[in-house]
Amino acid sequence: MARRLIVLSTGGTIAMAAAAPEAGGDLRFNAHALIEAAPGLDALARIEARDVLAKPSASFTLADQAKIARAAEEAAREADGVVVTHGTDTLEETAFALSLLTRVDAPIVLTGAMRRPDQPGADGPANLLAAARVALCEQARALGPLVVMDDEIFCAHLVRKSHSFRPHAFSAHPFGPIGHVAEGRVRIVLKPAALPPQISFGAGSARVAILEAGAGFCAETALALATVVDGLVLSLPGAGHVAADAAPALGELAQRLPVVFATRTGAGETLASSYAYAGGEIDLIARGLIPAGPLDARKARVALQLLLSDGADRARVGACFAMFSAT
Ligand code: ASP
Repeated sequence: MARRLIVLSTGGTIAMAAAAPEAGGDLRFNAHALIEAAPGLDALARIEARDVLAKPSASFTLADQAKIARAAEEAAREADGVVVTHGTDTLEETAFALSLLTRVDAPIVLTGAMRRPDQPGADGPANLLAAARVALCEQARALGPLVVMDDEIFCAHLVRKSHSFRPHAFSAHPFGPIGHVAEGRVRIVLKPAALPPQISFGAGSARVAILEAGAGFCAETALALATVVDGLVLSLPGAGHVAADAAPALGELAQRLPVVFATRTGAGETLASSYAYAGGEIDLIARGLIPAGPLDARKARVALQLLLSDGADRARVGACFAMFSAT
């Protein structure tokens, strides 16, 4: 019996075209049109197209990400594999949300395009075809959601967009892709040692902002932000360090709402037992701030939003981030 693939479209550049050469792109293509534009796709499997959303991905809300997760999980229970087409701008956030919200064996593979279908060198059809091959690959099962861009395969919980316009825009620094697609063959050479913990989406208020600190950070900016959010993620220098003067105010803030801190370096993780000076990570943890461990600020924000939406208190937020640190 033919294998079954479900393609879910959510918008993004892969589904956009310009009305005229001088005009910018807007959303024109649904899932059916995307499938028709990818030559050879229909030879791989019996394909079903479903439209879930149609937005540029910067407009996605947490509820939209949860809706994509539900649609993907449902589709994964019905089919051998699922492809989600998505704008690349916030693809890493939805990918991470899916890795926290879904638990299915059938592969869920996110992909997108850096060039619109009407632009020279459009990459959408090739990305969709490669993503479909991965979604139908036996070896890709039970690895958690994956991202396929430019013939590379990434774990959803490690990937990030790391270039603003090149077709080769995704990376998982410092670990790299777990495989690739070549001549239609899927090669997976690495598997994640552990998948992130599961979190539920709920109905609670989940406004979370990211604030990046640098030399001479002043805590008033964090205090001002705290008046309009339910939780805060600080993206901090090094392994999670902030100006000594700011530490007491951040500690007081952490008694009122969850304050998570991540490393702004783009790799590694927050430390927990190396620097005890005022504003060092030992001091911040003692004051009640929660280390994000290996999560960067964007991923920490997704996790904190989901936890708060589900009514998590500070202790549950801390326990969940401790699990991220342990895996
Ligand atoms: N603006 C687009 C988006 O929806 C960019 C893209 O898809 O590459 O994210």
